[in-house]
Amino acid sequence: MQSYLSHLQCTNCGKTVRADELHTTCPDCGKVLFARYDLDAARRVDRDEIVRRRSGLWRWFELLPVRDPDHVVSLGEGDTPLLWARNLGRKLDAPHLHIKEEGLNPTGSFKARGMSVAVSRAKELGVKAFAVPSAGNAASALAAYGARGGLSVNLFMPKDVPDMMRREGTAYGAHLYLVNGLIDDAGRVVRENAGSRGWFDMSTLREPYRQEGKKTMGFELAEHFNWELPDAVFYPTGGGTGIVGMWKAFEELERLGWIGPKRPKMIVVQAQGCAPIVNAFHAGQRYAERVADAHTVAPGIRVPAALGDYLILDAVRDSGGTAVAVTDDEILSAMSELAHEEGVFASPEGAATLPAYKRLLADGFLNHEETAVLFNCGSGFKNAELFPATVEAWPDTRAASS
Ligand SMILES: *Cc1c(COP(=O)(O)O)cnc(C)c1O
Ligand SMILES: [Zn+2]
Repeated sequence: MQSYLSHLQCTNCGKTVRADELHTTCPDCGKVLFARYDLDAARRVDRDEIVRRRSGLWRWFELLPVRDPDHVVSLGEGDTPLLWARNLGRKLDAPHLHIKEEGLNPTGSFKARGMSVAVSRAKELGVKAFAVPSAGNAASALAAYGARGGLSVNLFMPKDVPDMMRREGTAYGAHLYLVNGLIDDAGRVVRENAGSRGWFDMSTLREPYRQEGKKTMGFELAEHFNWELPDAVFYPTGGGTGIVGMWKAFEELERLGWIGPKRPKMIVVQAQGCAPIVNAFHAGQRYAERVADAHTVAPGIRVPAALGDYLILDAVRDSGGTAVAVTDDEILSAMSELAHEEGVFASPEGAATLPAYKRLLADGFLNHEETAVLFNCGSGFKNAELFPATVEAWPDTRAASS
């Protein structure tokens, strides 16, 4: 097996740089670098052979950026279930509704995909120590893959992240630092210190490879729907790695001749208390303005400013999609609805996709026959405090009253 990685290219100014040296953002303009592949040569890869390989995202090795399979740091990420949401679909008169259950990834979220690929590639290029700003899941995933790869990890989190996130990161042996402020404040601390401390900065879209891991969600969708894509994809959007990665995946698959030109409507879902991309989309802007006083029960999408805002907005617009903000109350009731109806213990971010879907059905943006996929990006276990237990009274004197 051989990776067809050829070079890195700036998504803003087009500058190209060599792939086999360490890069962060574009050396000229500071925007996002994409990994590019020799897709003409990769046409000799047999799509059906990839389907037959052992499960996990490394099945797509030729379209991933690691040169030597020995450098792969893996915990079994990818190939998560795509669940047909039969019960919810019946309630909503929407027979083709699905949930991509990313909560089953190692460390309980789709961050595992990005970190498996980015850690593997950085290790291959000689990195020994990492730092990342995180609302929780990126930290856990980097800590776990760092541990498995024998690399040192430093985590910077807003001080109000869920307790479980703090515990998990340090359980893997990472150094944890809490920051007064939000994730972009934590990012600033990382950027100010990475150089002098010898840390590689793993911030969202500030290195070229986490999005390569996340793009495998797009590959899996294509494969699952028999090389035709669904009509709509609902994605809880923070930094945007997933939406940007999937959009890139679709382009690569089409250039390989594995799918046609049809694309899903890409639908950004954010929380009303922090909806920079939704605001920019409806204002017709290419870049988003930083949200002041960002707040929501869904920490993974509490991202007031994203470096890849223009890439997210391009994907939404080019796909004919839209952007929807939902309230915290809608998120909380969707968490119990997903659990009650489908047995899916969703993270608040993942649950946010359900009220967004309902809204677009109600206002006619989507019709009931269209195939839609809701991304449950993480497990509800990490946010278990948001699921109150209802204890019923039992008529026995030994039973406790609450
Ligand atoms: C990181 C995260 C998101 C946002 O993902 P991006 O691809 O960075 O936009 C959403 N939900 C959860 C649970 C996350 O951890
Ligand atoms: Zn550039």
